[in-house]
Amino acid sequence: MATDTVFGKIVSGEIPVEILAETDRVIAFADMNPQAPVHLLVIPKSTAYANVTELAAGDPETLADMVTVAQQLAAEHANGEFRLIFNNGASVGQTVFHVHAHVLAGNLEERSLV
Ligand code: 5GP
Repeated sequence: MATDTVFGKIVSGEIPVEILAETDRVIAFADMNPQAPVHLLVIPKSTAYANVTELAAGDPETLADMVTVAQQLAAEHANGEFRLIFNNGASVGQTVFHVHAHVLAGNLEERSLV
């Protein structure tokens, strides 16, 4: 379970962000510490899933929505191409345990791994 994370506070409005895209299931906003010319985050509104493995098992439609929104953001903010990264566990760099997709785009010269 993802409980009481910074992204839960963003979903609830407790921490304000500029929403760049929104569906019934997800929202997207800019990463506060960008690692690429375009570095956006897509997250479920549900706080029930800590990582992409849990989301895929519990709510695959929301996972599909995240990919669709990533495509839309890449078309809007870059040339439509994008890298999608899910960190899945602390040992690989996950710091926020509310599932999120990193959308990286815009002439990535290095294989940045967020
Ligand atoms: P993780 O390492 O968990 O995959 O990525 C978490 C990401 O969330 C990091 O890239 C970090 O910069 C971003 N982040 C953490 N807290 C906030 C916040 O309060 N606002 C925004 N916009 N991004 C955040």
